[in-house]
Formats: sequence, structure tokens, C-alpha cells
Amino acid sequence: MPRIVLEHVTKQFDRTAKTHAAAVADLNLVIEDREFITLLGPSGCGKTTTLRMIAGLETPSEGRITIGDTVVFDSEKGINISPAKRDIGFLFQNYALWPHMTVYQNIAFGLENLGWPKERLRQRVSEMLAMLQIETFEKRYPSELSGGQQQRVAIARTLAPEPKVLFMDEPLSNLDAKLRLEMRTELKRLHAETDSTFVYVTHDQLEAMTLATRVCLMNAGVLQQYAPPLVVYNTPANLFAAEFVGSPTMNFIPVTAWSTGEDTAEFTALGRTFAFKGNAPLGRLRDTGKGNAVLGVRPEFVHLEEGDLKGQVYAALPSGMETIVQLKAGEQLITSVEFGGVDYNVNTPLYFAFCGDGLLLFDKDSGEKLGRGSVTLTA
Ligand code: ADP
Ligand code: MG
Repeated sequence: MPRIVLEHVTKQFDRTAKTHAAAVADLNLVIEDREFITLLGPSGCGKTTTLRMIAGLETPSEGRITIGDTVVFDSEKGINISPAKRDIGFLFQNYALWPHMTVYQNIAFGLENLGWPKERLRQRVSEMLAMLQIETFEKRYPSELSGGQQQRVAIARTLAPEPKVLFMDEPLSNLDAKLRLEMRTELKRLHAETDSTFVYVTHDQLEAMTLATRVCLMNAGVLQQYAPPLVVYNTPANLFAAEFVGSPTMNFIPVTAWSTGEDTAEFTALGRTFAFKGNAPLGRLRDTGKGNAVLGVRPEFVHLEEGDLKGQVYAALPSGMETIVQLKAGEQLITSVEFGGVDYNVNTPLYFAFCGDGLLLFDKDSGEKLGRGSVTLTA
């Protein structure tokens, strides 16, 4: 069964411009068989290019790509196997169905081209219709279907030939919010039901987090972190990962920090001094003077009406199940998420605390994570 390996894969669109940054730079990635990988990152970070290089639609400038036991691309050995021979399926944002064909014919068409015997073909199409719950539309034409139904047909059509790897490039971005949520559930179930490896491109962090077995987070062509969603959430590799994943966004508080031991440090912030105790040895704190580090606090770790940090309510946004409360402590705005529908008047004075052992310390200049741990006030 296939495992996809990318080694030092680089794509430079404009070879003449030496100063021009690579669309994808020195990417090393191992996608295990049957994984559901999401390529995540802001627009233009190289997600589509990465996907297209694995699929064989784009030729890397350098590097090597292996699918299963086959080297499908190697810049040094001059190997470049065509997409048709890579045993893969595609699902793009614009999933053009054949307008003059019924749902059944749309799904069957690819299998006919592959020369599937009639009986096996019929069986497979029925299976797909059932899996995507579109049996009742079998005889309809695409124009007689809603956007979501059309998308299901497109997925059925792509999955029908049992591709070993299924590539999807923002396949849900044309659907409305409710339908997107529904399709997310379906895709996750579908992945469990098929033997295919899924490689999925999205710029939507929530989509990437909820679907993936592992998230490949990129920025400006460079891999930032490749890890399971909750690892990226709890232990972001750097400030970019910390900021890109999670909503509301993590609080970032500039601090002046100094080392006090292998896994301990102290810092000043909000006019107070804190002791930081890491869960593991801390990275090197650079003595670059004032504001050399950044404390990262997820909104759920800011507990209100606890501890003795002082702030006042900047705004409270109750939405029923949870309430986002923004506090002002000195010049710093701090976001807290409270479970349930609490409400506060603007400017209400409040005590708050940074709780738990999931607080993060980053190097300000490089953005690298220095450690994860808990804080106590020392003064
Ligand atoms: P994403 O899918 O993450 O939005 P892309 O992979 O499409 O990003 O693009 C990555 C970078 O490569 C962008 O800067 C984009 O402008 C550039 N790029 C993509 N395709 C081409 C192309 N065919 N020719 C030149 N530059 C391209
Ligand atoms: Mg793209």
C-alpha cells in the first residue's frame, strides 16, 4: 500500500529570478498509507503547488517524490512519471460534472474508460451512490441538483475507480457554511470507509483541524509544522503556527524573560513578575534585552474572576454556548473564552489568571517555541 515520500522538493516558477522566493522550498514530508493529510496555510503559501507536484501536474525544480515503491519524480535521475500512471484521483474546487449525463452516467463514465466489465461497473456505481447517499438522484442531470448534491456526485465519481490516493483542492469552498459543515462530516466518514489516502488542500484552519490525521502547515513555501491537529493546537512549533490555528486567536503578550534553570524562567509582563515552569527543558532564551520573548495564552486558559491579575472588560460577546470576553490590562488586550452565556458590562473591573500548563513561551525574533508550561506570580 502506498506511502508518499517527498524529499527536498522545491518549486521555483521563475528560474531566472534568483531573488524570487520559491513557491515551495525544500519540502520533506512522509504521508503514511491511509492518512488524511491537510495542506494548510494562507493563500499563496504553496499548497496547490505541493499537491500538483505529488500528482504529477507540476514538475518540481528539484527533489524526489516516491509513491509506494515507485519513484515518480527524481530531478537527478530524470524520472518523471505521468499523472495517469500515478494511480490517483482528483477533486478540484470546480468539479465540472458532465451536464448531458445523468448522475449514474457521470459516475460510470470514468470506469467505462478504464474498461471495467459491465457487472463490476454497475456494482461499483451502486456502491458509490449508496455511500454518498445519492441513490434517489441516479437518473437526474446535474442541473437538477443542488450544489451540495453535485459535490457528492463529484466525490462519488472521483472515488469510483478506487484511487490509492485522493487529492482534493479546496473542494468545499464553493458551498455555503452549513453544507460545508455537513460535507466535512461526510468526508471524514468516507475516509474511514475507503482504503484511500486523502491529501486535502484548504486555507480554512477549522476544516484542516477537524478533518486531518495530520496537518501540514505552510507559510511562504516553507513547512512550519507537520503534526496531528491537536499537537499543532497545543504545541505550535512557532508563532506563525500558534497564530494561524485556533479561533479566537491565541493571546500574544510581549515579555522580558530570563532563564532561571533548565526548565524554568522568569518574565515580566503586565507590570508583574511571573515564574514560568516548563513541562520540558526550555529552548535558549536569547538575551536581546527588553521584550525578548512572547507569552502565548489560549483564550480558554484565561480564567476570569480568579487569581490576582487586574483588568477591566473591554467587550463581552455572548453567543449562547460560549462567551468571548475581551479584557484590557494596561495597554494589553486579552481575550478569554468562557463556557456558557455570561455577560459583562463594558469597563467592569475583573480579576483574572493564566491557568493550566498549556502556556507557551516563544523567542520573539525567530518565533520559535521555547517551551510549554505553567506560570505563577512571584511579585
Ligand atoms: P496556494 O494554493 O497555497 O494558495 P499556490 O501553490 O497556488 O498557493 O502558489 C504558490 C506561489 O506560487 C504563489 O506565489 C503563486 O503566485 C505562485 N504560482 C503558482 N502557480 C504559478 C505559475 N503557474 N506560474 C508562476 N507562479 C505561480
Ligand atoms: Mg491553492
